[in-house]
Amino acid sequence: MNTKRCLKPTAPHKESHIDIYLLLFLLIVLAGSVTVYIYYLKEKKEQLDAINRGFCPKCKQKSIVLTDQRSGGCGGPQIVTFECESCGYHNSFSIDTSGGCGGGSCGH
Ligand SMILES: [Zn+2]
Repeated sequence: MNTKRCLKPTAPHKESHIDIYLLLFLLIVLAGSVTVYIYYLKEKKEQLDAINRGFCPKCKQKSIVLTDQRSGGCGGPQIVTFECESCGYHNSFSIDTSGGCGGGSCGH
């Protein structure tokens, strides 16, 4: 009878070795994505800065328009979408509006 078929050692003892490489790989990926994210946030902030001053961050024309604006509720961040009528640039930003909802202006 074949009752002890589970005792067959199929996996060699190499797995601890692979784990170190996997960990290293994950670490590199994590560091890379954090760097990209910080860079992305920085660039996003610069673009929003330009838009706040009234011009498109891409073509520097004063043809930027607000196309969409929605709020995530009282105290939550506001999602605004801007579009450039001149070069087609569009981007959405989440703007933290904390403090703007304090005086009961959010009653509706
Ligand atoms: Zn533009």
